[in-house]
Parts: sequence; C-alpha cells; structure tokens
Amino acid sequence: MPGRLTERVALVTGAASGIGWAIARAFAREGARVAVSDLDRPRTEQAAAQILADGGQALPVVMDVTREEEVEAATAQVIQAYGRLDILVSNAGIQIVSPLTELSFAQWRQVQAVHLDGAFLTTRAALRQMYRQGGGTILYMGSVHSKEASLLKAPYVAAKHGLLGLARVAAKEGAAHGVRANVICPGFVRTPLVDRQIPEQAKALGLSEEEVVRTVMLKETVDGQFTTLEDVAATAVFLASFESNALTGQSLIVSHGWHLQ
Ligand code: NAD
Repeated sequence: MPGRLTERVALVTGAASGIGWAIARAFAREGARVAVSDLDRPRTEQAAAQILADGGQALPVVMDVTREEEVEAATAQVIQAYGRLDILVSNAGIQIVSPLTELSFAQWRQVQAVHLDGAFLTTRAALRQMYRQGGGTILYMGSVHSKEASLLKAPYVAAKHGLLGLARVAAKEGAAHGVRANVICPGFVRTPLVDRQIPEQAKALGLSEEEVVRTVMLKETVDGQFTTLEDVAATAVFLASFESNALTGQSLIVSHGWHLQ
C-alpha cells in the first residue's frame, strides 16, 4: 500500500532527538524523503542512517536554525538533493526554567532565537521554494504553552505563543501559492527536554520529582498520562497529508485533555 506521504520531500529540524526524530521516522515510514536536520553532524548522521537502515529515504542536513546562512545553505542542500521541498517541520527547541527575576537577557534571547528566529528563517527559506513549485505545508511545533502559561517558563511560553502568529500569517500569505501552515501543540512528552526539567522544577518549586510529574505536568490531563512521541508523530502525518485548505492557520492540541477548548 502506498504511504500517505509517498515521494514528498520533508525537512524536519531538531530531528536527531525526541519529537523531531519521531516525526522524521513516521514520515519516512509513510514514504517521504526526509531531510533530517539537527545541530551537530554525528547525531544528525546517525539519525539519517537509522532511517536508511529501516528502509526509508533520508538525508542528513546539519544546521543551527538560528543562523541565517546555515538555514539558507541547508535548505538549498535539500532542494539540490531532492529537487523540491513539500513539508517543513519547524521543531527545533530548547527550554530554560527560571523565575522571571532570575532570568538573564541572554537566556531570554536564546529561547526566542531557537523558537522564533529559527521558525522565521526556516519558513522564509521553505516558502521561497514552495512558491516556486506551487505548494507545500509547514508544521510548527507549538505546545500547550502556545495557549496557556506555567510558572518559570516565561521565554518559552512567550515564544510558543509567538509561533501561532507566525503560522497564521504564513497561512494567509501562503494560500495564494498553495501553502498551508498549522501548529501542533503537544502536552508533556517524555523527551530529553522534559526529563531535564523534572529535577529543575522540583528544586525551584520545593517538590519531589514524582510530585512535579503528578501535580504540575500531568495534573490537568484526563488520564494522568504523558503525551507520547507516537501521538505527536501521528498528528504530524495527519496534518502533513491533509489535502485541503480547510486546515490552515490552525493549532491542534495533542495533550490527553490538558487545556480543553
Ligand atoms: P529534544 O531536546 O529531545 O529535541 C530538540 C532537538 O532540537 C535536539 O536534537 C536539539 O539538538 C535540537 N536543537 C536545539 N537547538 C537547535 C538549533 N539552534 N538548531 C537546530 N537544532 C536545535 O526536545 P523535544 O521535546 O523533542 O522538543 C522538540 C520540540 O517540541 C520543541 O520545539 C519543544 O519546545 C516542543 N515541545 C516539546 C514538548 C515536550 O513535552 N517534550 C511539549 C510541547 C512542545
């Protein structure tokens, strides 16, 4: 049976770990040619090699999404290798946990740079190719924190809210060129990004790690469950393969019921 993304060309940032890696693998299983992109060469090459070993098509592409020239070069590399770019997943992200009063300006800017500068730079490079070829889809990795706030996460919450605005403009401007843009908003998923936060939050809030998981991270879910990598990857496949403009400029919460709306 043909996959839902057969021969589509996808670029996934932050794809050597966690959610990006799960999406890259799921796209490859659906028949896409996947440019697996991350910061450092060994992890990026290892991720692409794993997809190839599993019978998929993958190209390792090293880039720091905050650096304009690297984003331009990496996008050109994908287009040169595969001839087009159908799907961008702007996923690379970091987290810094700190009360506002303790946060340095450099930390604030670092979080904005990875999430917002990275999303802008990859969007601009992708859109130029998508306009040339007459269509494409952009998925941004938002968060439930695109919709609500938590203690200690000011730069992250601000950046994730900002992605909604960028996606909506990309949806409006892209429509005339066949480009759709949507945001996936996961709840907590057990990745290195979250695993690092549990002891940090326990310390900052004076709780045990088990209490952080139960009373902070999963408190508002309907079932006390973490969102899984598979939950998020399945949502990305669904949005990437959705065929009409009915779904554009939207944000979809994938969170086991945290933040119902
Ligand atoms: P992760 O730490 O497992 O993976 C993030 C990847 O991004 C890493 O491989 C890292 O090297 C890469 N990265 C960081 N800075 C980069 C840069 N400047 N350029 C290129 N790559 C860079 O984290 P994750 O949990 O898989 O997070 C992926 C995305 O999902 C992030 O945008 C995060 O905010 C979002 N998200 C995560 C959760 C969660 O609970 N894990 C929930 C909602 C949203």
